[in-house]
Amino acid sequence: MALKKKSALHEKKGVLQPETTSSSSAQQIKKSRSKQFLVDEFVTKILAGDITFLSRAITLVESTNATHQQKANEILERCLPHANKSIRIGITGVPGVGKSTFIESYGKYLTKQHKKVAVLAIDPTSSVHKGSILGDKTRMEELVTDINAFIRPSPSGASLGGVAQKTRETIILCEAAGFDTIIIETVGVGQSETAVHSMVDFFLLLKIAGAGDELQGIKRGIIEMADAIVINKADGENIQNANIAKTEFNRALHLYPPKESTWQPKVLTCSAIEHNGIAEIDALILTFLQLTKENHYFTKRRNEQNKYWLKATIEQQLKDTFYYNKTVQQQLEKEIHNLEKGTTTPFNAAKRLLEL
Ligand code: GDP
Repeated sequence: MALKKKSALHEKKGVLQPETTSSSSAQQIKKSRSKQFLVDEFVTKILAGDITFLSRAITLVESTNATHQQKANEILERCLPHANKSIRIGITGVPGVGKSTFIESYGKYLTKQHKKVAVLAIDPTSSVHKGSILGDKTRMEELVTDINAFIRPSPSGASLGGVAQKTRETIILCEAAGFDTIIIETVGVGQSETAVHSMVDFFLLLKIAGAGDELQGIKRGIIEMADAIVINKADGENIQNANIAKTEFNRALHLYPPKESTWQPKVLTCSAIEHNGIAEIDALILTFLQLTKENHYFTKRRNEQNKYWLKATIEQQLKDTFYYNKTVQQQLEKEIHNLEKGTTTPFNAAKRLLEL
């Protein structure tokens, strides 16, 4: 008897009782009900414009945790019918050109007209060093405190594709929360302009007047993407140079073939710091909107972007599943070693890895 009591196999009644099937399924139902309740609550609050819940939903979108992602997907699907009623504007320019000053000035201009502005960013450097190019300074101090503005720094991620996908999902959430102007800013590292261009209606390139060689040093393809080029810092002694730059860009723009939207890209000057030229830029964007809505290019392009993102998401997921696979990772190391030794070819190595 004493032996029995000391045995490790001795079970205390009522403690280690296995759960009955019915109680575990009851628990599951309870769990899924509470999850449903959570999703319901998120959606209701987001649609009511609750910023706290909007931020929390974005955090779920950005999370790599599978449960969070599932919840985020459910919230996104429910928000989708309420999105789309907005204008999405992409803004690019090298560091120091005045992006944050411009967005603050333009953002304030819009909120004064009772618009709701969300500012998002795509910064592929945010995963490389701790402080990202866009995020490490105090930016848009006035806009941050504006109740009609919402500013969210770039999500960090292993790849530009991943970062861009999260931003695209964030756009949907912001629109469902009632933001009618979505500004997406990028520094233009790698392919980040292309990523931003593929999710906006209007693409604005911010420049400053240089030493008369304005077109030098502009990345290929950027001018083709731009719907407007804005020469910032057109103030003080810089006004004349800004106007010279404007003429030069205008000339350059005429060398490009007409756009499918039939929109003729424009060059404007502004001083973000003095708030000059901001109203003209807004008027230009409104003219663009009117034209592209009338000729249905606006909807066509959004549909094309959706198709593009469907394919991009599939490719991204396939890549992630492949590269995060432990067996693949081990074999990849071996194949690289073999490549270095010259005992295999890249094609044979790739074939073997894919067959895994
Ligand atoms: P970002 O790196 O592109 O976001 O540029 P910032 O907005 O941080 O601006 C870089 C610097 O340029 C700051 O010192 C700004 O005060 C200055 N700046 C921005 N806009 C203007 C402008 O319109 N005129 C002048 N003179 N300076 C500006």
